Amino acid sequence: MGDTWITDIRHYLDENEDLIQEPGPARRLAEHLCSIIETVTARSHDKVDLGTKVRCRRRPHSRRCEGNIVASFDDVNPSTIIWRCPLCEDNGYIIGWQDTLWNRSNS
Ligand SMILES: [Zn+2]
Repeated sequence: MGDTWITDIRHYLDENEDLIQEPGPARRLAEHLCSIIETVTARSHDKVDLGTKVRCRRRPHSRRCEGNIVASFDDVNPSTIIWRCPLCEDNGYIIGWQDTLWNRSNS
């Protein structure tokens, strides 16, 4: 079973609203989540396919998971982005992305 990550992306930004540099694992997690934010916010609202090109970052049994992340706005609360890996069930919620550089939506 995967873990559920609830992430406020603002916690990973520095004073210039760019991603923190350190510590490295936090930086890599933040880059991963920003890729998800970009994909979901850039896609048109009527797009049915929820797949992304973002590769799962988990390494169960020391082997990289082959899954690609599936992500979308939450139906009930569109200010939340929900994501999961269909293979290993790693999953989470991202909040706080609206005013970041990675929000590609027009509205
Ligand atoms: Zn996975």
